[in-house]
Amino acid sequence: AKERGRGRVELFDEALRAQLSAHAEMETALAAGLAGGEFEVHYQPVLDLNSGRLDGFEALVRWNRPGVGLVPPNDFIPVAESSKLICDLDRWVLHEATRQVAEWRAADPAAAGLTVAVNVSGRHLADPRVVRDVTEALLASGLPPELLIVEVTETVLVNEPAAYGHLVALRELGVAVAIDDFGTGYTSIGQLSGMPVDTLKIDRSFISSGTSGHAELVALVISAAHTFGLTVIAEGVEEESQLQWLREQRCDFAQGYLLSRPLPAAAAGDAWRAALAP
Ligand code: C2E
Ligand code: CA
Ligand code: CA
Ligand code: CA
Repeated sequence: AKERGRGRVELFDEALRAQLSAHAEMETALAAGLAGGEFEVHYQPVLDLNSGRLDGFEALVRWNRPGVGLVPPNDFIPVAESSKLICDLDRWVLHEATRQVAEWRAADPAAAGLTVAVNVSGRHLADPRVVRDVTEALLASGLPPELLIVEVTETVLVNEPAAYGHLVALRELGVAVAIDDFGTGYTSIGQLSGMPVDTLKIDRSFISSGTSGHAELVALVISAAHTFGLTVIAEGVEEESQLQWLREQRCDFAQGYLLSRPLPAAAAGDAWRAALAP
């Protein structure tokens, strides 16, 4: 039995070692990929439900890893988040997305009001550099601050005391703040109303079909958010009936596969030209 026990420990050891080296390997590859231009930004349209028009896009990063193909963020963001690398990655996305939208605006007056939402990880938001990073991206691109939305998760506000001050500073620049995946944490709307926050993004899990039990909750969130002067985005809208219902509830914005999947920059350009054509 002793023998078998030791065997197990060795197996466990081996599995752990393999995991650690896979992690380290990916970290190295991520850093090299960032330096080598292997990342790209895709853009998912956000619909303004009041006007029925395109409001703008959420920027979502992808890794075009040589020999592998397009890697989705859930496969590498957690690794990047375990080191300072996430700050470099977020900074790159900030620069690329603001540059792209500024380019679209310059090309056509119809695009003048397009917004862009960028995801900022908790680690980056807690880093004092985040304010400088956003400022530099705005200056470099020439994008008006009012067109930039920074998306952060509610846990960040609770767990990272420094984050709060950085959000205050970002809003002083004119940038809007959205709470991503709202509903998955323990924050209440009342708590958020006193915080440097403009928008709630209701998590996909509350919108998706088969969760009709959430309808009353979502309706409540929308009306409470409005009472506190916050706007609401519903994410993960996949069905026409959901969109119709969200309109009836006076939800402000919608995003999801029903409207469009995230698109490579060129296709997103075609999408806004088609949507905003006079
Ligand atoms: P998120 O910020 O909640 O982004 C929404 C995710 O839901 C995106 O996945 C999007 O493609 C997907 N989605 C949109 N509409 C639908 C729908 O109707 N149905 C379904 N099933 N999914 C939908 P994606 O692009 O794979 O991104 C995953 C997560 O990775 C993001 O979740 C975000 O947390 C993170 N992420 C993406 N880009 C960045 C980035 O530049 N920086 C950081 N820090 N995180 C990022
Ligand atoms: Ca997001
Ligand atoms: Ca989200
Ligand atoms: Ca998410």
